[in-house]
Amino acid sequence: MSRRTFTMIKPDATEKGHTGAILNMINQAGFRIIAMKMTKLSAEKAGEFYAVHKERPFYGELVEFMSRGPITAAILEKDNAVEDFRKLIGATNPAQAEEGTIRKKFAASVGENAIHGSDSNENAGIEGDFFFSKLEQF
Ligand code: GDP
Repeated sequence: MSRRTFTMIKPDATEKGHTGAILNMINQAGFRIIAMKMTKLSAEKAGEFYAVHKERPFYGELVEFMSRGPITAAILEKDNAVEDFRKLIGATNPAQAEEGTIRKKFAASVGENAIHGSDSNENAGIEGDFFFSKLEQF
């Protein structure tokens, strides 16, 4: 069972002022924030973070979107963190996201979908370490 996952509140949700409401939903769902920062990705850093999607047709759009404004990055702790957090955020495409999920509530489209959540324990570790030194993970 995984105890940690990684999330980013994406530029669209930041621009619309949803950061506080999303963090509240995360806390209400039982996740503890053990690292957090507001920052802005350069196009280069966004490209590196999403390198696994390099060959996808939407890669350029994704990099442009993710580097256009500030994001809030965080590491979250809870039993079964990766799986439970994917349930909390909902489907990639908000049209398919279930009621009560963060994407259903705040996402505008499949690209501008408000929030990221790691898809495996391995990626949760890699992504958390991408943003936070060990000294910043509590
Ligand atoms: P996730 O794990 O639910 O975030 O989804 P994926 O790993 O499949 O995709 C990563 C991110 O790429 C998504 O969260 C979207 O922001 C973006 N994305 C996925 N599919 C599309 C698409 O068809 N068009 C655009 N513009 N962006 C997409």
